[in-house]
Amino acid sequence: MGRLAGKVALVTGAASGIGAATARVMAREGAHVVLTDVQDDRGAAVAAEFGGAYRRQDVTSEAAWIALTDAIKAEHGRLDVVVNNAGIFIGGTIEETTEELWDKVLGVNLKGLMWGCKHGLRIMKDNPGGPKGSIVNISSITGYVGLASGAAYSASKGGVRLLTKAVAVHAARTYRDIRCNSVHPGVIDTPMNQAAFDASPDPNAMRAMFAAIQPNGRMTTPEEIANACLFLASDEASSVNGAEILIDGGWLAAPNPL
Ligand code: NAP
Repeated sequence: MGRLAGKVALVTGAASGIGAATARVMAREGAHVVLTDVQDDRGAAVAAEFGGAYRRQDVTSEAAWIALTDAIKAEHGRLDVVVNNAGIFIGGTIEETTEELWDKVLGVNLKGLMWGCKHGLRIMKDNPGGPKGSIVNISSITGYVGLASGAAYSASKGGVRLLTKAVAVHAARTYRDIRCNSVHPGVIDTPMNQAAFDASPDPNAMRAMFAAIQPNGRMTTPEEIANACLFLASDEASSVNGAEILIDGGWLAAPNPL
């Protein structure tokens, strides 16, 4: 308990899945958590569990980021943690990729996250007591390996991986104590994946197939991702910068079934 005591944390996409779990874990550890999403009812319900604050925010809009981070500064005087978690998956091979699909996926997953880095840093550099903060970017296993059936998604998550390093180096050189790291989930049991299972002819079989992908034979839970976000957000990770945490049950360590 108390690993984030006194910190103000912002979690995007916090109405569901990994974002909701991260908001809950950070609140449990003493942070004041601001949750944002475009799913207002679900976001407000998660916030109500622990007295957090919910605000509607479309992460693709820079104006919305400026308004949100300025409001957090005005209300709390500081911002210590930004978890850029909001994301969407739209499948499609490169041959199936349209301009609309590309712009939508890259808009949320990469542009939206980029604004979060920019405006998180803008507030963190003026924190009382000196520049200090931690930005946690949710990438994916597809930031390492291409997903044939998700070309735009893979491109967005690969972009997140290297944008994170560009931000990390700039922040450390310029402000010393502001960090930026990426988290790379494998197969996580969230509504994002459940929607894909439900859209298949046999949702139970699809679920079982996904569970079997990771060598540990199960999907990772949202809480297991949240715990990595907690570590990166906390002062325990005070020298962890530009790093990647892969949480995939060993999937990438075992590229073949032998
Ligand atoms: P999720 O359950 O679908 O939650 C994501 C939340 O973000 C949803 O409430 C979603 O709303 C919201 N969102 C979508 N577009 C937004 C926007 N423009 N502005 C603000 N919020 C927006 O997803 P999840 O599985 O927890 O995934 C969270 C993150 O982990 C994503 O970045 C995802 O790419 C990444 N990830 C997930 C997995 C996995 O296996 N689940 C694996 C690797 C990486 P809507 O429901 O309206 O879209």
